[in-house]
Amino acid sequence: MPNPKRKHSKTRSRKRRTHYKASEPATMNCPNCGETKLRHRVCPNCGFYDGRSIVIPRK
Ligand SMILES: [Zn+2]
Repeated sequence: MPNPKRKHSKTRSRKRRTHYKASEPATMNCPNCGETKLRHRVCPNCGFYDGRSIVIPRK
C-alpha cells in the first residue's frame, strides 16, 4: 500500500487549513415583519414562512 514517506509538520497542516473559513449565515429581512431572519427558516419573530403563518410565536 502506498504511504506518505514522512509525517506532515504541524506548520504544513496549519498552512493548508488557513483557507478553511466559517461562512456567514445566510440572513434576510422577513417579508412579513421586516425582522432579520435566517433564510429557509420560519421567522422567529412572526412565525411566517412562504407567505403563510406556520407557528404562533410565544411571547
Ligand atoms: Zn417575520
